[in-house]
Amino acid sequence: MYPSSIPNFIWNQSRKAAFLSTNQLEELSKSILKAHKDYYPYPMCKAWGIDSNDLIKGVRCKVCNKIGMRRVIRTWKCPHCLNQHKDAHILAIKEWFMLVGEEMTNSDCRSFLKIEKSQTATRLLQSMKLKTIGEGKGAKYKMSRKMLNGHKIIYPVIKNSMRS
Ligand SMILES: [Zn+2]
Repeated sequence: MYPSSIPNFIWNQSRKAAFLSTNQLEELSKSILKAHKDYYPYPMCKAWGIDSNDLIKGVRCKVCNKIGMRRVIRTWKCPHCLNQHKDAHILAIKEWFMLVGEEMTNSDCRSFLKIEKSQTATRLLQSMKLKTIGEGKGAKYKMSRKMLNGHKIIYPVIKNSMRS
């Protein structure tokens, strides 16, 4: 049970008696404990009803925080501040798992990181400690909950967020 659902849960309990008896209190605490789930907010698009097509795609620059680092030979280069960072894709891939889905394909990776070559995507995905399901073109990659849980919650950057 999530903290936000507790008021409703209590509200929906029988209200025939003005006060709860000891037995009823015990029953209530038992059912709250039974309904408990660990808080796991990912993927956030699903949880928040956001269309993943509305997210701004691309690799974020750690220095200026702008999205759109370009893949150059074995590294990433920011077109805004010109910073180069070899591991910039790691955060982007983590963000994909936090926001979009539980299994990433090569094509998901290329589209989210804005890279063209599937070999590059394969290399980047294989360099991370992801679980691989299947082989070759059909391979899917999964990030463990442990890896995601250690991460600070990010807030999705949504296209046209000014639109009401
Ligand atoms: Zn930058």
